[in-house]
Amino acid sequence: MANQLRQQARLTVLGRKPRKCNVPVNEQGKYLKVSQYYGENVYNYHLSKSLSLEDKESLKQVIEGKRTIDRALATKVANSVLEWAISKGATHFCHWFQPLTGSTAEKHDAFLSFDNDRPLEQLSASQLMQGEPDASSFPNGGSRATFEARGYTTWDLTSPLFIQGSTNGKTLVIPTAFVSYHGDALDTKTPLLRSDLKINEVVTKFCQLIGMKDVNRVITTCGAEQEYFLIDKAFYFSRQDLVMTGRALFGSLTSRNQQLEDHYFGMIEDRVLAYMQEVEIELYKMGIPAKTRHNEVAPGQFELAPIFKDSNVAADSNQVVMTVLRNVALKHDFVCLLHEKPFAGVNGSGKHLNWSMSTDTNVNLLEPGNNPHENFRFLAVVATVVEAVYRHADIIRMGIASHGNDHRLGANEAPPSIMSVFLGTTLTSILDSMISGGKYVASNKTLLDLGARQLADLFKDNTDRNRTSPFAFTGNKFEFRACGSSASIGYPLSILNAAVIDVFEDTNKIIEEEMNKGKSADEALTTVILKWYGNAQRAVFNGDGYSQEWVKEAEKRGLGNLRTTPEAISVLKDSTKSSVLLKTGVFKESEIATRHNVMLERYIKCRQIEIKTLTGMVLKQVLPVAVDYKAQLAESIKKQKDAGVDASLELELLKDLANLSKTLYEQTVNMANNLEAYHKHDEETLAKKIAQELMPLSVKVADLCNKIEEIVPDENWPVPKYYDMLFIR
Ligand code: ADP
Ligand code: MG
Repeated sequence: MANQLRQQARLTVLGRKPRKCNVPVNEQGKYLKVSQYYGENVYNYHLSKSLSLEDKESLKQVIEGKRTIDRALATKVANSVLEWAISKGATHFCHWFQPLTGSTAEKHDAFLSFDNDRPLEQLSASQLMQGEPDASSFPNGGSRATFEARGYTTWDLTSPLFIQGSTNGKTLVIPTAFVSYHGDALDTKTPLLRSDLKINEVVTKFCQLIGMKDVNRVITTCGAEQEYFLIDKAFYFSRQDLVMTGRALFGSLTSRNQQLEDHYFGMIEDRVLAYMQEVEIELYKMGIPAKTRHNEVAPGQFELAPIFKDSNVAADSNQVVMTVLRNVALKHDFVCLLHEKPFAGVNGSGKHLNWSMSTDTNVNLLEPGNNPHENFRFLAVVATVVEAVYRHADIIRMGIASHGNDHRLGANEAPPSIMSVFLGTTLTSILDSMISGGKYVASNKTLLDLGARQLADLFKDNTDRNRTSPFAFTGNKFEFRACGSSASIGYPLSILNAAVIDVFEDTNKIIEEEMNKGKSADEALTTVILKWYGNAQRAVFNGDGYSQEWVKEAEKRGLGNLRTTPEAISVLKDSTKSSVLLKTGVFKESEIATRHNVMLERYIKCRQIEIKTLTGMVLKQVLPVAVDYKAQLAESIKKQKDAGVDASLELELLKDLANLSKTLYEQTVNMANNLEAYHKHDEETLAKKIAQELMPLSVKVADLCNKIEEIVPDENWPVPKYYDMLFIR
């Protein structure tokens, strides 16, 4: 019987011990400091013995985008990489890329080659630089017929090569971009790289214009805080929904879940800590600076945050983080759930994208500083970003749309799908006073003082941290908090960058015009601040983003609220909203269409799988248990009547159960039939109908399951309960 499986799983889990892993040691068996083994599995050309100083300088220029790589240099680099990879024990290499599935793909090839009959290890320049995976098996949104199956992966020199180990061998991983035969981006990396180039161009110009003449390069920086759940493997595999869809499609809430707020930052249990430590060791070796670890709000929920890096590397690193979290979990008999909402009723998981821009002179452009001159720059950059979020709110919202994230955005715990900006009281009052002060005069000392004094305090201004805003200023960076935990961050980052590029181009124009009129840089920056903040102010909201009042208020302010994925992705078909992607050169027209189709198709497929899984579980697991218990109750009532004993309690239970089971059966059949019937619609209508009609119906079905779960004896219940999954470890 199924329930035996559940009992057995409980016993198994109760016997688990924390896993000991191989902590790096020196020859004497002493633990190494992290700094002694950090990055040991990352290729560092500076350390190469076979590359000359001149080669290294050339390679550096290639990496900084100042020149292209030629064949001769590529061959030398390939040899150096091969030598290093072999010394690390690698037998294979793979081009690693991020197709539109949202995860990563890799095809491994052995270094093994032959010189006549003599076996040897080889990595040619072209093997390093380019691969040719069959593109037809990856989502392409119908952008290309399958007979044109060629797609290319090309080495991304800006992201480091690394070694990935598994139980019986090691592989050299080459981060690559993935493009079609016609040069269309079929991945999340290519648009991100394009956006980085453009940000560099536009924001470097901005810096130059306002007098930062030594700035030659600007990059975007990102630190992605990753939330996740851990549940025991034994429970995971006892629930089809978790395996098939990544979330529990029903389950009655335990009496205590997160209301005591005792899990967040609580003490980390040993078995979990052992897991986190092994994850960190793996990440350190691969040059990923995991910095923070802690319990999150929900029971069984945790977070890992790395030190920020430039966005492209951060996006690759985050993919590695997700892979390592998942792989190491299995070694500890856990399963790591990266789904945005694995358990209804408790907090979901997000990924906070901390984002800023930084110059090659090491200036963080979102650092407030205490110098009034710099403050105008800072305020202008803030105002530009606020205008970008306001002007392009819908497309930014689109960038984080997924079926999983729909359960978070708008639910009572995650930043809502209304793209507002939190600036905090200090920053808001500075900007407000500038606006109400009317025309700014550079000699106005009081305003300068006000700006200077309060901005200096911003550093310490941790009190008005707002957890409910989708886009919050947090001291010296913005935190885009509405991103989903399973998302590939390259996509939302490229879209955010596009929005920022668009407004920065206007900012530069204003500055040029003002300075041509003879205004100073500060005066020109003030014009920028007043213009953008004056316009985008209505997107600034420092209150409780979870409240219903805000939803109403936002509507009054005319802010968009695209609640579901189908609504959000339709933005890609609205050229007034999507043209920013085109205009900034971050996406091509065909790529926008591709993204639309892939996202739509993915939404439909994932929901279909959920609905089919739910239907199956209701019919084959929940209802049989309900029917059994009904029979048991009926039998007992009959016996008691025969014996002349009162059976009113059993009768009540039986009636309840009979009603619930019957309704559950009807609603489930109804849901399954509707899904079938909707297939006559085109994909866009189908997706909308799923979101608007089937999802609410699936919630009803889940509720009925939960009510039945609360009636039938615990020992009969066929699948692990919330209690098992969230509390037994
Ligand atoms: P918080 O308390 O707001 O969570 P932390 O300092 O812990 O702030 O940082 C959270 C994340 O933000 C980390 O991943 C961190 O590396 C990243 N971060 C900090 N500064 C920047 C920056 N300038 N650009 C991008 N990310 C940053
Ligand atoms: Mg944070």
